[in-house]
Amino acid sequence: THLPLCVWLPLDSTLLGWVGGGASELDGVKSRQAPHCSRSTSLSGSVFSFFRKRCLLEDLNCPSAAMAASATAAGIGAGADRRVQIRGFRGLRSPGLIPFGRPLPAPPFGSSSVIRAVSTFMLRTKNPCGKVPNKLYLVMDDLADEFGIGTLRLTTRQTFQLHGIPKKDLKTVMSTIIKNMGSTLGACGDLNRNVLAPAAPFTKKEYVFAQETAENIATLLTPQSGAYYDLWVDGEKVMSAEPPEVVKARNDNSHGTNFPDLPEPIYGTQFLPRKFKIAVTLPRYVDRLNLTAMACPALPLCPLAITEAERGIPDILKRVRSVFDKVITLFIIQFVGLKYNESVVIRVTGCPNGCARPYMAELGLVGDGPNSYQIWLGGTPNQTRLAKSFMDKVKIQDLEKVLEPLFYNWRIKRERHESFGDFTTRMGFDKLHELVEKWEGPEGLSSRFNLKLFADRQTYEAVANLAKLQNKTAHQLAMEVIRNYVAAQQNGKGK
Ligand code: SF4
Repeated sequence: THLPLCVWLPLDSTLLGWVGGGASELDGVKSRQAPHCSRSTSLSGSVFSFFRKRCLLEDLNCPSAAMAASATAAGIGAGADRRVQIRGFRGLRSPGLIPFGRPLPAPPFGSSSVIRAVSTFMLRTKNPCGKVPNKLYLVMDDLADEFGIGTLRLTTRQTFQLHGIPKKDLKTVMSTIIKNMGSTLGACGDLNRNVLAPAAPFTKKEYVFAQETAENIATLLTPQSGAYYDLWVDGEKVMSAEPPEVVKARNDNSHGTNFPDLPEPIYGTQFLPRKFKIAVTLPRYVDRLNLTAMACPALPLCPLAITEAERGIPDILKRVRSVFDKVITLFIIQFVGLKYNESVVIRVTGCPNGCARPYMAELGLVGDGPNSYQIWLGGTPNQTRLAKSFMDKVKIQDLEKVLEPLFYNWRIKRERHESFGDFTTRMGFDKLHELVEKWEGPEGLSSRFNLKLFADRQTYEAVANLAKLQNKTAHQLAMEVIRNYVAAQQNGKGK
């Protein structure tokens, strides 16, 4: 069903720190019901659209109903964003959305404004293994401008999210997506969500296998009800044929867990107790730091955010990696130190509500003021122990002043295979505070470390000239080359 050329949403380092949805999905929703719909919204969390189609249709046609809980429960891929005040400024393409309770900004100089309240929706697509036909990408881009808030967000689960879709436009947007080879079926609700797989490389057979497997799992766990198409494209079926092995697997009741007489043989009538997520991947696919890192949406989506999280985490991870590199550099001649694939579980949130679970992390950053964070330490790599608050009000620009002594001492004082979380717990916070406060750089930094000493003159000059062109020192460039070489070897890419 896809065009020969596809855009792939990369599951890479910049994306793995992102978290979509969260508080924005239901924040501020008034769950009023359509006049003739007798369902209780409190029940709808476990009931699927096949059984709820009538309610949804009534909700959809009723301008006053928020259609929130039933919509998300139904797995149709749309959740109430929030009730917002829309302030349209003349001359601006997209309206400004301001959550209730927030002061309205002044209109741009010389413009007039109109304020009104509407219910809007967040809409998420389902793209198994991040595969997106070109045509769909272009359509999503246009829809974001025409009906949303002008941004098209890529999520950690390789999907698109559109925010701020007014209820009256929901059907237009949904049907446009479906008719352009996209789907939102199963992107929200208590069922299996999108199935992830590495987006590249395209040709290696292991990766192709991972992508095919992800697509098959996604197909297997897609709701079977036709209600989705009844709702959004008036019953028109826009589906491709299922592979025979998927059909066989769906009807396989050898474990006695199926519901053979129901329209949903795997989910039954109750679906799942909550959302589930599946990913198919290969060992050592990405930098381990990024693999376990997570951030909440924070600014600009969450009205409770005090500081950055999702938008800030790529830079924070780069800086942590740089501190790792620096610690490696101190000992590079001996070829010991923190290895490139050393991992620390890092979580960042924009406020103390902790939606990205910073209180279980080995290194948690919890927003406690503009550009400042509490630092939490002591969780374990598998998040089975609670972290503790280590420092308050650490300005983001001072992060290295805390991390460098901690990582350096982890490097030189750790027990064999000791994780960072276990190390900080064993050392105790009093000792760690002392190390941070007295930190003046590493002890006994070897004066032997100098690129000139282990490179011949010709090589050194070539590296130095190249580095100059890139605004780097010869040492920085050499480190980059060594690091990339090691990573490429580990990823099996050879030279
Ligand atoms: S942790 Fe705070 S800022 Fe982040 S999503 Fe949760 S409530 Fe919002």
